[in-house]
Amino acid sequence: VLDKSIQRREFFKQMGIGSAALGMGLTTPKLIAKTADGVLVESEAEYGGLLVEKLTGDKFPYEYKPDVLKQMSNKMTVFSRNVWDPTREDRPRENLTYQRLVEGKGKIPNQTRLDYALYDGSWTMANMGGRMAYAWDSGRRRLSGSDLGEWDPSDIDMSWEEASLAVKHAGLFYGASQAGIAKLNPLWIYSDNLQPTREDRGHTIPVYRDKERFEQTEDAWYIPESMNRVVAIAFEEEFYAIANSPGRLASAAVGSGYSRMAYTAYALSEFIRSLGYRAIPAGNGVGLSIPIAIDAGLGELGRLGLLTTPKYGPRVRIAKVITDMPLLPDPRISFGVPEFCDVCMLCAEHCPSESISAEPRTWEGKSPSNNPGVHKWYVQGEKCDDFNGFSCSNCKSVCPFSKPNNSWLHKMIRMIVQQRIGIVDKMLVTFDQASGYGKQMQAADYWKLDGSECVTAREKM
Ligand code: SF4
Ligand code: SF4
Repeated sequence: VLDKSIQRREFFKQMGIGSAALGMGLTTPKLIAKTADGVLVESEAEYGGLLVEKLTGDKFPYEYKPDVLKQMSNKMTVFSRNVWDPTREDRPRENLTYQRLVEGKGKIPNQTRLDYALYDGSWTMANMGGRMAYAWDSGRRRLSGSDLGEWDPSDIDMSWEEASLAVKHAGLFYGASQAGIAKLNPLWIYSDNLQPTREDRGHTIPVYRDKERFEQTEDAWYIPESMNRVVAIAFEEEFYAIANSPGRLASAAVGSGYSRMAYTAYALSEFIRSLGYRAIPAGNGVGLSIPIAIDAGLGELGRLGLLTTPKYGPRVRIAKVITDMPLLPDPRISFGVPEFCDVCMLCAEHCPSESISAEPRTWEGKSPSNNPGVHKWYVQGEKCDDFNGFSCSNCKSVCPFSKPNNSWLHKMIRMIVQQRIGIVDKMLVTFDQASGYGKQMQAADYWKLDGSECVTAREKM
């Protein structure tokens, strides 16, 4: 055990990698020990105080079968299937949100006009963004630096390590909670893109990796092989609003995440384009965000099927920017999420639609929207999608990893997670629940909070 802080440059050298995933600032994680698969580090700013293993040598925090794992068709996601799949025709279509508001005259607890207003505002940028926010070309005719060719960081005596940190810094500047860089694994790019027409709702066009071509046409998308890096950006969903699940405030937290995704991915893309490189901003589209974020060192996969980060747990939304800027990738990380999920099961127990598996991990899914080949818990996304007009975030609300790192109990859970003492984990999960964690936060109480109590708040009101 080294048990000492070391300088950032020395730290990178010891890890043999470019740079670390970036949390709340340019912090130096504390190197605790070397492990067989990498190094164990600790950082309050980046990992909420958790011990995290950074995996070197291209190791994965999950098992997969390379002969089974395939590129996924964008047509098979639940949102796409809602457009064309006849088996999705009978899904609940009424606008439950609007109905509940009007029928209840805006007075139903956790569904009041005030709660709905927060929800409506939260989706503003996501709804306005649409094609513009995730456009492959610059929205402005001329960006200040775009005529100068590809930027070379050595022009200002900067290394590519520092330039990679600068790009992640820009991501945080534009509003991301966390940023990491990965080599782009072409497996995570959708094999095609849904482009419904009036006659053919399931119409797709292929997505090609091309030597040179960078273009979106009506018949195909072309992503050049040189675009082999991706910046994953994660956006925290507000803790107390998520705790209101299945109330309307939880949906507002989700909407706010989507809106910040749209703005930040687009702004970060313009930043990269201004430096003379190409950029494709993407929300849920273009490729699978969760494995990309895992590759970029932002977290692991939990039983609930979401990216689980050390600092915010699964309370994050993810966007990404694909680029040809030669950024240095971050290592993947491991902090015991799947082992903890083996014994925890709270999300499965609290899922009202029974979308989350309470069984052990498998290699095969139960839904056409699952992409087999990874050893994990496969979630039945269509059941989740059908439930209660998008107001549920129960799985995130009860997950022990969601709890902000301000409780001795949670710190203890997290420490024990590191040591993989499975049998004690379940006891602590029960203890954590007995302390009241995971109970629904009433909207009436939420609105009485001082803003500074919200974990995303920076100032007192
Ligand atoms: S959001 Fe709700 S319905 Fe969907 S998986 Fe989570 S707990 Fe289940
Ligand atoms: S609630 Fe428990 S089982 Fe579910 S993802 Fe969180 S830690 Fe894993």
